Amino acid sequence: LSERLSGILDKLTRRGALSEADVGEAMREVRRALIEADVALDVVRSFTDKVRNRAVGHEVLRSVTPGQQVIKIVHDQLVEMLGSTARPIDLEAPAPVCIMMVGLQGSGKTTTTAKIGKRLGDRHKAKTLLASLDTRRPAAQEQLRVLGEQNSIDTLPIVVGQTPTQIAERAMTAGRLGGYDVVILDTAGRTHIDEPLMLEMAEIKKISKPHEILLVADALTGQDAVNLAKSFDQRVGITGIVLTRMDGDGRGGAALSMRAVTGKPIKLVGTGEKADALEDFDPARIAGRILGMGDIVALVERAAQDFDAKKAADMAAKMKKGQFDLDDLADQLRQMKKLGGMKGIMGMLPGMGKMKGQLDGFDEKVFDRQIAIVQSMTPKERRKPELLAASRKRRVATGSGTRVEDVNKLLKMHRQMADMMKAMGKKKGGLLGGLGSM
Ligand code: GDP
Ligand code: MG
Repeated sequence: LSERLSGILDKLTRRGALSEADVGEAMREVRRALIEADVALDVVRSFTDKVRNRAVGHEVLRSVTPGQQVIKIVHDQLVEMLGSTARPIDLEAPAPVCIMMVGLQGSGKTTTTAKIGKRLGDRHKAKTLLASLDTRRPAAQEQLRVLGEQNSIDTLPIVVGQTPTQIAERAMTAGRLGGYDVVILDTAGRTHIDEPLMLEMAEIKKISKPHEILLVADALTGQDAVNLAKSFDQRVGITGIVLTRMDGDGRGGAALSMRAVTGKPIKLVGTGEKADALEDFDPARIAGRILGMGDIVALVERAAQDFDAKKAADMAAKMKKGQFDLDDLADQLRQMKKLGGMKGIMGMLPGMGKMKGQLDGFDEKVFDRQIAIVQSMTPKERRKPELLAASRKRRVATGSGTRVEDVNKLLKMHRQMADMMKAMGKKKGGLLGGLGSM
C-alpha cells in the first residue's frame, strides 16, 4: 500500500490546492487500504465520506505536498474514529470492582486476565483476585492458576464440579471477604458466537454485576469483527475492547470496525504472550498501521513546526541570486538534524522502510561534525569558501576535531548543493522544500 500511496503523492505533487478530483482519487486508494486491513465495508464507506468532506478545499501547508496533506487528514480522521483520548480501565466503584472478560475461544482472555491483574497490582497497588469460570476446557482453570502463581496474583481456589455462575458467585464472595480491590472473571469462550454462550455470559453478568465488561478480540479478526462486537455488545453489553496479538502481522482493521459499530473504546492492546506485554491503546499507532505506511503524519507535523518560514524566504531570495554560502549549509544541516536525521526522515516516508535498514551504519553524528567544521571557519571563509587554502583547511580541521579530508568532503558537498540550488532556481525552501515534494 505504501507504494500506492506514494503513487498518489507523486500524482498530487506540485498541484496547488485540494480539489475534489485529487481527493476522490486518493480516497479510492485509501478505501482499498482499509479493506486490505480488514476494516468492515460499512465502516470503510462512512469513513471515506467523512474524510472527503474534510479534505476538499482544505488548505495545504506550504512545506508539504497536497498528497501528504491528504494523508494527514485521513490519519486524523482515523484517530478520531478510533477514539482520540485514552480510556483506561475504570476502577471507580465500590470494592471489589468486578471486571468480566468475554470473547471467543483462543482470543487471549485468560492471558489478558493475568496481564491486567499484574498491571493493576504493579501500577495501582490494587489487590486483585483472578477467577476462571471456564469449565468447558479441562485445563483452563489450571492455566489461570499457573499464570497467577507466576505473577504473584491471587487466584480463586479451584472447586471441581461447579457451574460458571456458581464460580462467579463464589469469586465475588471471596473478593468481599478477602478485602480485594478488584475481581477479574475469566469466562469460557466458544469457537464462534452461539446462543448458549450469550446466555451464559448474561447470567454471569447478572450475578457478578461487573463494572467493566471487556471484549477480548484478536487483532487478526477479519470481517467477523463487526458481528463479534455487535453480538457481545447487544447481548451482554460491553464497556471496552482489548485487542490482542498486535505483535503479529494483523493490520488492526478490526479495531476500527469494532469501535465504529459499538462506539465502545479500545482500552488495551496485547503485544505478546508474556504477562507484561500489555499496552495502553494508542490510536495514532493503530491508524498508521491500518494505513500501512510510514509515519508521514509525524513528518508533516514536524515539518510544519520546525520549518522556519522566514529563514526559508531569505534562503529562497539568496538562491535566486545564486548565493548559498557555508552558513546557509550549516543552517540546512541543523534543519536536517531537527527532523531526526536521515534515518528519521527515511523512516517517515512511505516505501522507504527497506532503505532505512541500509542506513543503519549511518552515523547521525555526521551532522554535528559538519556543523562544527563550518563553525571553525572565519565569517569571511564561510561566505567565500574559495579562500580555504591548504593551511586554512588544516586550521579548520584542527579546530573542529576532524581531518582535512572531512573539510574537503564538506566543501565538495557544499559546492554540489550550491550548484543544485542554483539549478532549482526559484523553487522555495531549499532542502526542506525539496523534501516536501519527494
Ligand atoms: P482464551 O482462550 O481466550 O483464554 O485465550 P488464551 O489466553 O488461552 O490465549 C490463547 C493463546 O494466545 C495463548 O497461546 C496465548 O499465549 C496467546 N496470546 C494471548 N494474547 C497474546 C498476544 O497479545 N500476543 C501473542 N503473540 N499471543 C497472545
Ligand atoms: Mg481461557
